[in-house]
Amino acid sequence: MSAAVEHSSQEDWALGQDAADPLARLRDEFLIPRHGEHEVAYFCGNSLGLQPRATRPALMAELDAWAEHGVEGHFRGALPWMDYHSFVRDDLAAVVGAQPQEVVAMNSLTANLHLLMVSFYRPTAERPAILIEKNAFPSDRYAVESQVRFHGFDPADALIELEGDESGGTLSQDAILDALDRHGPRIALVLLPGVQYLTGQVLDLRAITEAAHRKGCVVGFDLAHAAGNLPLALHDTHCDFAVWCSYKYLNSGPGAVAGAFVHERHAHTPRPRFAGWWGHDRATRFRMGPDFVPTPGADGWQLSNPPVLALAPLRVSLALFRTAGMAALRAKSEALTGYLVWLIRSEVPDVLDILTPDEPARRGCQLSLRVRGPRDAGRSLFEYLEARGIVVDWREPDVIRASPVPLYNRHIDCLRLVEAVRAWRSAA
Ligand SMILES: *Cc1c(COP(=O)(O)O)cnc(C)c1O
Repeated sequence: MSAAVEHSSQEDWALGQDAADPLARLRDEFLIPRHGEHEVAYFCGNSLGLQPRATRPALMAELDAWAEHGVEGHFRGALPWMDYHSFVRDDLAAVVGAQPQEVVAMNSLTANLHLLMVSFYRPTAERPAILIEKNAFPSDRYAVESQVRFHGFDPADALIELEGDESGGTLSQDAILDALDRHGPRIALVLLPGVQYLTGQVLDLRAITEAAHRKGCVVGFDLAHAAGNLPLALHDTHCDFAVWCSYKYLNSGPGAVAGAFVHERHAHTPRPRFAGWWGHDRATRFRMGPDFVPTPGADGWQLSNPPVLALAPLRVSLALFRTAGMAALRAKSEALTGYLVWLIRSEVPDVLDILTPDEPARRGCQLSLRVRGPRDAGRSLFEYLEARGIVVDWREPDVIRASPVPLYNRHIDCLRLVEAVRAWRSAA
């Protein structure tokens, strides 16, 4: 078969898949950045999701309400600001598989991590440690290490690091269980990701929680790369708390307001916490009394009145998830990522190694790719793609991440990516 024929039949196949995709219309709900005449092939939803078309009007509506009502906007208009955070609650709970009172949208990811560690990392001399991954995202590591020091412990002793034991740097379930077996009685908190940011590996949150609870550890998850990527069942995992951001797969804009989950069984138990007036019982908040009485559930960790201009984009974005449904999104995601794997293996196996696990259940959208060849090959390919309107991302020292997102990516985008890799190989 000549290269041209082969190309056109592959393109026909990809376009056919896209034409038959029941979720294809959702792409029109997004603003796709351009590269010259054409839309880019955008594979960076793992880093910053694209802007829904409905975001701008939703923001303008709140600016108009402010202009029209001033302070009265807290009680008037279509969406009074007073309880604005509650307008995202049900959809947010659905995306992470929680009960409504278990979730709240507030602050940023790292801030929420600190706030929840104040309540859920309670080290003692016998049980001072935090179990994390050696390759944890730097912000998580800084947060954890600073909490250890804040409590007067030494990170050299009280941070237990899990090292990737599989090829590609991923973590086996056995390695996690083994660490819990060896160190369990010393571990106060297990803090692990839902999806590992560098490798794209999905962890089994329920099994980890079960094993850690058996050893008496508290369990928290960072779902930065999991929320909006995978269907989650946070309530059923029984984990104690979780945090995530909303600018990656949740498409709520740069620095968007983040999320937090506190399991229902902690809804009414008093816990040490850093308090603010918006966490106070709503019924008596405005009596302005001196004694803090927490609102039950995740709301009780709020500090401040809701950031309406940050919540408006989240409300709009979550509505798209409601329309599509996480199950349908996941089905399309598995098809897209599976197709990209197949293309890489059949077209450019001599160029790219896939670090992300092979089993669909152990990965989400993202593929982490390592470029074979000399040290600067990865960077060179990354720049080649960028110059051609193919947006992937680069993580030092040598990983390219590419994430076909089911809300707006297509099979034809995956084909464009792999054809560009082939062209780079020919040019090299
Ligand atoms: C993206 C990401 C962060 C970013 O933290 P912010 O507080 O939102 O700036 C932190 N941790 C992980 C694991 C991430 O993937």
